[in-house]
Amino acid sequence: MQAGKDARDPGGQPAGSPAGLAAPAGDPGDAGWAYAPAPESREIVTITPEYGLFLDGEFGPAAGGKTFPTVNPATEEPLARVAEAGPADVDRAVAAARAAYERVWGPMPGAERAKYLFRIARILQERSREFAVLESLDNGKPIKESRDVDVPLAAAHFFYHAGWADKLEHAGLGPSPRPVGVAGQVIPWNFPLLMAAWKLAPALAAGNTCVLKPAETTPLTALLLAEVCQQAGLPPGVVNVLTGAGETGAALVAHPGVDKVAFTGSTEVGKQIQRTVAGTGKRLTLELGGKAANVVFDDAPVEAAVEGIVNGIFFNQGHVCCAGSRLLVQESVADAVTGRLRDRLGTLRLGDPLDKNTDIGAINSRPQLDKIRELSDAGEAEGAERWSPPCRLPDRGYWFPPTVFTGVAQSHRIAREEIFGPVLSVLTFRTPEEAVTKANNTAYGLSAGVWTEKGSRILWLAQRLRAGVVWANTYNRFDPASPFGGYRESGFGREGGRHGLAAYLDA
Ligand code: NDP
Repeated sequence: MQAGKDARDPGGQPAGSPAGLAAPAGDPGDAGWAYAPAPESREIVTITPEYGLFLDGEFGPAAGGKTFPTVNPATEEPLARVAEAGPADVDRAVAAARAAYERVWGPMPGAERAKYLFRIARILQERSREFAVLESLDNGKPIKESRDVDVPLAAAHFFYHAGWADKLEHAGLGPSPRPVGVAGQVIPWNFPLLMAAWKLAPALAAGNTCVLKPAETTPLTALLLAEVCQQAGLPPGVVNVLTGAGETGAALVAHPGVDKVAFTGSTEVGKQIQRTVAGTGKRLTLELGGKAANVVFDDAPVEAAVEGIVNGIFFNQGHVCCAGSRLLVQESVADAVTGRLRDRLGTLRLGDPLDKNTDIGAINSRPQLDKIRELSDAGEAEGAERWSPPCRLPDRGYWFPPTVFTGVAQSHRIAREEIFGPVLSVLTFRTPEEAVTKANNTAYGLSAGVWTEKGSRILWLAQRLRAGVVWANTYNRFDPASPFGGYRESGFGREGGRHGLAAYLDA
């Protein structure tokens, strides 16, 4: 143990690690015990200098020849240049998807489609380390999350939906549900591979073809997934991946050849898309932001609740639409809970996303970091009390320490706006009725958590919380069989389960 400690500089920097990375959030050295660095090797992934669009089964440059860089947010190191799709590429992709829908994928029996989905799922498992490392490099998330959450859940989505492909008439959606046609799908940067799987798997199982637009800052795993589609022998045009920026997404959702639009991202862009799609007859599902309440009662087991609070807001650096970003804690236990929470945060390790010990990785982009900083500064200016564990941030890359605000009022911006970062706002309540009122005092309605030992109270609350998902004595649990989605400014439509299939079928 001592040797491990000696290998660090006073700031907790492991010897030989990339400059400025892998500093612990707290200082485990103080406890006389320190982690040795455990970096996952990058060797498993081959990153090429340039990536093309995946269109009609082939990779190729954008018609206009434009490219943009994608960087590692932990180091600001450029990883590759990626083709930027313009309107001509959107045309080609939609035409390829239409042809594949009419000639191959739409008429194909469900049992045959299922084989491709099973194959994709299995290849995802076989290449899981490659995907996990690439996701952590491009996104900044800790390898233990990409390895243990993102990639296995993406494979699970393909397995689950493969099982539906030949049973659609038994999904309770009518005797002979038909695919909708060509799906235009736009996804964000917080779970790049997983969101691609959430979009593609149900669409393909139901017999639709897809044009997917990944986020500008995280295109690489979607392109590797395109390679997996090739490897699985998926017929050309069934899945097309158009990399690019917001304009590419806007051109895709506006394209007249698209029958169904599925979007995950900010509420602001969701509203723009809704305006674009209005009156066109296109089907639309929107999975947007959130400001979830994680409600802790005085009878909750404190240790478990603290783990749930940490998981709720610090998982994936808080870049989670359903993050438990508002902690509502019963007043009588507020000090005890926040005290334990501070102790726990002192043990979190922030740093190199590829280190297997890392709990908190990098913020995905400079603009996102600026947004988190701005909202956190607003929290302080409006009178909330800000706290972070002792934490040396790496010199390069985009970093923000785990942060807790206490004394938060419902009117504060940090209680109302989605921060999408590792920032928790703590509010208190006295009665269950007050908890419900405060939890529902938000424009959003995506998720919520309840911590109590009373089953009856869980049911009472779940009936009253206006959120698409309510977790009881757990948080951030995802399963492909369980529908996910929101109300109000969190959007509409469900993804996952039987309900998610409905979005891709004409019943
Ligand atoms: P956006 O909503 O801008 O991005 C989501 C996706 O939509 C990306 O692929 C983006 O492309 C694309 N896009 C952007 N503009 C348009 C448009 N006009 N038409 C069609 N597609 C478009 O989210 P941001 O990345 O800008 O994040 C901003 C904030 O949104 C975050 O701080 C967070 O609060 C929230 N957010 C919520 C998410 C959620 O899951 N609920 C996910 C991501 C963000 P490109 O990346 O190239 O701009």
